[in-house]
Amino acid sequence: MVEYDKFGPEKILSVYDAKTGMRGFVVIDNTSLGPAKGGIRMTGDVTIDEVAKLARAMTWKCAIAELPFGGGKSGIIADTHKIDDAKKQELITAFAAAVRPVCPSLYVAAPDIGTTKREMETFAKSNGSNKSCTGKPKTMCEGTACGIPHELGSTGWGVHHATLVALKHQKRDPKKITFAVDGFGNVGSFAAKYLSENGAKLVAVSDSKGCVYNPDGISFKDLNAVKKKTGSVINYKPGNVLKSSDTPTVACDVFIPAAKADVIHAKNWKDVKATLIVEGANIPIAHDIEVELHKKGVLIIPDFVANAGGVISSYVEYIGGSEDDVFPLIEKKIVRNTQLVLDTMTKKKIPPRDAAMQIAIERVKKAKKSNNRR
Ligand code: NAD
Repeated sequence: MVEYDKFGPEKILSVYDAKTGMRGFVVIDNTSLGPAKGGIRMTGDVTIDEVAKLARAMTWKCAIAELPFGGGKSGIIADTHKIDDAKKQELITAFAAAVRPVCPSLYVAAPDIGTTKREMETFAKSNGSNKSCTGKPKTMCEGTACGIPHELGSTGWGVHHATLVALKHQKRDPKKITFAVDGFGNVGSFAAKYLSENGAKLVAVSDSKGCVYNPDGISFKDLNAVKKKTGSVINYKPGNVLKSSDTPTVACDVFIPAAKADVIHAKNWKDVKATLIVEGANIPIAHDIEVELHKKGVLIIPDFVANAGGVISSYVEYIGGSEDDVFPLIEKKIVRNTQLVLDTMTKKKIPPRDAAMQIAIERVKKAKKSNNRR
C-alpha cells in the first residue's frame, strides 16, 4: 500500500500497452524543487509500493544535494533475465510513449536496476525529447548537449569525498586508515579507486562470489585487473577468501557498503569493527540499527547524502553541461552537504540521518512555500 502524507506522492501514473504487454508506472513523489527525478527499475516483481518508497528517497536526495529536482521513480514489470534485447527495447519504447503526459514535464527518467544507457537512448528517442531522461550514451547529442553515462563513476567519486569529509571530522588521516568495500561494481570500484589514490589501505573487497581479505593491503590496480580478467575479486592474490556476508565485520577503520540493502542487520551489527560507515548502497542498514551503531560511537554518512553523485551527474547532463563539469560539481556539493550534516549532528546532538532529514525537509518545505506564494 502506498503511504500518502503532506509531501506526496503527488501523482501516480499506471500504464499498459496491449500490443507489447508492457505494464509499468511512474510515481511522482514531490515536485516542490523541480521536475521529479529518478530511475526506471525493470524487474519481474517491481511494485508501485516499492517505487513509491524509492521516489520518496529521491525527494530527500535531490534536496540534500541542492538540485532543482523533485523526487520520482518508475517501474516496468519485466524480468530482464528472461527476455531478449529486442523485447526489452520494445517494452522501453512502449513505456516512453505511454508516460509522455508526465515526462519530461513532471518526471525525468534515469537508469536503475535492469536499465542502462542503452535503454535511456531508446527511451529518449521514443519519448521524443532528450530532456526526458539522463544517463544517455555520450554519443547521443542535441547541439552541444550530449549524454553523460552513470558508468563514468560519478557516484563512487561522491562517496569518496563524503568519506574524506567524515575522516576530517574524526580528525583522522586518510593515509593512516584501512577500509573495506562491499560490492565491486560501479559505486564500490570507483570509491575503492579514489580512496586508494588518497593513500587509504584497502583491506577487503567483496562481490557476489565472495570477499577477499588481506590486512596488509590490496592493490586497487591489480584487483581491478583480476576482476576484469576472471570475473571476481576472490581470485586476487595474496589474500584470504571469505564469504561476501563477512565483509561488514572484517577488521577495518572504514566500511563502504556498495552492493545490497540490509548488509548490516540485527544479527551482525554488534560485530562491526569500523568506526566510520559511508553508505554507497541504498538502505544498507535498517534505520533502527543505524541508531544502535550511532550510540556505539560509529559515524554513519547516510545513503542519500553520500551516494548523490549519480543524480548530480544527471543534473549536469539535464542542463546541457559536459563531462568535465560533473566531477568538480559533485565534489563541491558532496563536501558542502556532508559537512553541513556533520555540523548539524554535532550542534543538535542527533544521529546524522536525522540531521540530514531535517535539512532536506526544511529545503522542500521552503520551496513549497515559495511556490505557493507565486
Ligand atoms: P553494480 O551492479 O554495478 O554493482 C553491484 C556489485 O555488488 C557487483 O560487484 C556485485 O557482484 C556485487 N554484489 C552482488 N551481490 C553481492 C553480495 N551478496 N555481497 C557482496 N557483493 C555483492 O551496482 P552499482 O550501480 O554499483 O550499485 C550498488 C548500490 O549502490 C546499489 O544499492 C544501488 O542502488 C546504489 N546506488 C548506485 C548508484 C549509481 O550511480 N550506480 C547511485 C546511487 C546508489
